[in-house]
Formats: sequence, structure tokens, C-alpha cells
Amino acid sequence: MSTNIYPQRRQMLFDTLPVGSLVVVPSGSEQVRNRDTGYSFRAQSDFYYLTGFDEPDSVLILCKTADEQQCRICLRPKNPERETWDGLRLGIDAAPSHLQVDSAHDIGELDKLLADWLANKAYLWLSFEQSSDWTTRLLPIIGQLKRRIRQGVEAPKGIHDLDGLLHEQRLIKDSVAQLGLTQAAQVTVAGHVAAMKATAVGRYEYQVQAALEFECRTQGAARQAFDSIVAGGKNACILHYHENNSLLRDGDLLLIDAGAEIDGYAGDCTHTFPINGKFNKAQAALYDLVLAAQQAAFAVIRPDIPYNLPHQEAVKTLSQGLLDLGLLQGDLNSIIEQESYKPFYMHQTGHWLGCDVHDVGAYKQQGNWRPLQTGMALTVEPGLYIAPDNTTVAEQWRGIGIRIEDSVLVTPTGYTCLTAGLPRKRSEIEAWMQKA
Ligand code: CA
Repeated sequence: MSTNIYPQRRQMLFDTLPVGSLVVVPSGSEQVRNRDTGYSFRAQSDFYYLTGFDEPDSVLILCKTADEQQCRICLRPKNPERETWDGLRLGIDAAPSHLQVDSAHDIGELDKLLADWLANKAYLWLSFEQSSDWTTRLLPIIGQLKRRIRQGVEAPKGIHDLDGLLHEQRLIKDSVAQLGLTQAAQVTVAGHVAAMKATAVGRYEYQVQAALEFECRTQGAARQAFDSIVAGGKNACILHYHENNSLLRDGDLLLIDAGAEIDGYAGDCTHTFPINGKFNKAQAALYDLVLAAQQAAFAVIRPDIPYNLPHQEAVKTLSQGLLDLGLLQGDLNSIIEQESYKPFYMHQTGHWLGCDVHDVGAYKQQGNWRPLQTGMALTVEPGLYIAPDNTTVAEQWRGIGIRIEDSVLVTPTGYTCLTAGLPRKRSEIEAWMQKA
């Protein structure tokens, strides 16, 4: 991974900041799981994106004045005893050259330092999404500054939302982000292949989950990008199912939505296939329909189309198919207008993808769906979910849940599918399962 990318990303952010700005970007702190055991730590994505550093209790501070810009890091000092228990720390002396910042400081001094650094800054920038405890921490410091007004000190006039600047920057993937997403996608696909191999009637969902996550970790994933969904049969109708503790039954489908995290970037891919290797008639009809909806969504992806167009195309295909199969009645336009497909398709056809699986960046601008741009990454994931207790449809359809999801990167001429490599056509899946 290019070590120069982090100063470049910070410079891009500096360029969008007005003179007189101070930016606070925290890594976050370890969270207690139970008693003296913590959850495994992962730095906040904004912080990691700008530093490539993943120690808890670190804070990046950017200062921009008319004369200079300063990039500072506050972090935990070296502590041989704590390091023996909890792991090595970078430490203050090594941080400036290692992280390519202007200076490094003891995190314990942060409040005092901020009182100095905030003086005469008109704009204080914080993530509004993550900042509730930081506003409580910073307001007294601003209060102190205001009491020094007779000494000629000026305090910030307002706290501004960093998300609008930084998240727009994160939305367009630079070369390092593209590489991270590509690798995460490839490892994710390998995980899905391992999961298919591990699937058999009579196994449990968690055993398939273990095979998938084993493969991802073996190939270098730091962790999964989100809790794996391994949903056999009607469990697939629960969109965020992750109990993953049911028996895999003959005649059911298995829906797996999972992704590896590599270098801070998320993979995200969903695959649905028959546990016994053969689709029944109802499953086959719905699977072909979801795949057709995904193809319809793919067909329109290129720069300058509105973000929502792939979703509209998927909805049109799904609605027409549900009409043809007799799951919906009426006329296509009114089904779409009245959203009567929603009992079977209740989510959007995708989301931004990046450091976070549901990545940052606005979807609309001035009330309109924003146009896609080269360098944006998103998922394309139509699905159909026929609730097991939906008595308005024939029994054969009930309890079938299908989603097909790929991650794509928008290119100047269209898109690149990052998660290519899984058997997707029904015939390909059945042939693959037969061979395995
Ligand atoms: Ca997903």
C-alpha cells in the first residue's frame, strides 16, 4: 500500500477548508465487551482514511491559517508495562516520521493543547455523525477561549459538519481505495466459493459461515466487514438475519451475504443457491427473475446517470416478473407507482461501498438523486422475499428469499464488477454444485 496516500488525502481535505479552520478526527476508544474484556478495536473510518493508523485513543488535528497548515497527531505515549499486556504502541517520538505529520503529542494533553490550537480559529470542524461526546468536550474549551477575549483571543464562531467535506472526498475512490476494494472483493468471492463447498444438507448455517470466514481470514482479511448473513430457507426472508444457527434442509435455498475487510476496505457480495444443488420450479422462476433484475440494473450503470436509475430498472423487471408469475395482479405502471411490489422487495438496489460497508457520501443533492461519477463504488443487489406466512400467494412461493449482490466500481465507460467469479446463472450454479 502506498504510504504517500495519507498525506495526499489530508492535503485534499486542507484544500477544501477555509482559512482559520481546525479539524478534529478521532480514532475512537476501545469498548468494554464484558468486565475487563474489550471488543476488538477498529479505528473510525474517517481517521483511518486520513492516517492509515489504527491505535485507539488517537486524534488527528488539522490546522489551517493564512500562513501555514499543520497536521498533528495526539496518541498514547509509550508504556512498557501496558505494552506487555495490550500490545506495542507507536509512541510519540516515532509518530511524526511514521505517520508523516508535523508533530505528535500525548493524548493526555489534548484538552490543554486544543485550548491553544483553537485560539483565533473561526471554524471548528467535527463529524456530526460521530461527534456527540466531542461537542460536550469541546464546548468548555471554547468557553475558556471566550474568557480570554480581552487579551485579543478569538474563539470559533461555530462548529461545522466535517462529513460534508470529508465524506464527499471518500465517495470518489482514489487508486489506493480502488486497490483495497478490489482485494477485499476478491477475498470475499473466495470466501463465498469456500462456503458453497462447505454446504450440504444436514449441516448448520454456522458451519458454512465458519468455512467462509476461515477462507477470508486465511487470505489476509483483518476481519469481516459486517456480520455474515448465512440464511437457509425462510431465514433468508429476514434481511439482516445473523443468528446463523439453523439446520440446512433438503430442498431449501441458502442465501449468504458476507464480505471481507482488507486494508480498511469492505467487500460485499450476496450469493443464493440450492443446498442440495438443484433449484425446484418455484425457486428457479424467482432466481431467474432476480438475476434478470440485476442485469437490468447493470445495463444502465455509467457516469452521469442518476444514482436511483439502477433501482428503478430492477423494480421494473421484478414487478413485471411478479405479474407474469401471478404473484402480483394489475397493471405494471400502477404496481410501480403504488409500490405494491414492496411486500416482496422492500430494500433499495444498492448502497455506496468503501471503508464502511454502507459507505459515506450523500445520495441526493438539492433533493435530486445525484449523478454517478467515475471512481464511485456501489453494490447492485436486487432480491425477492416471499414471507413464509404470506397467504396471498400460492404455497409453493412462500418462504423463498433470494438476493444477488455484486460490488461495482464506476469507470469512464461504464463499470467494473469487483466481485466477479461466482457462478451466477442457474445452470452454472447447478453444474458447479454437481461437480463439487
Ligand atoms: Ca450485502
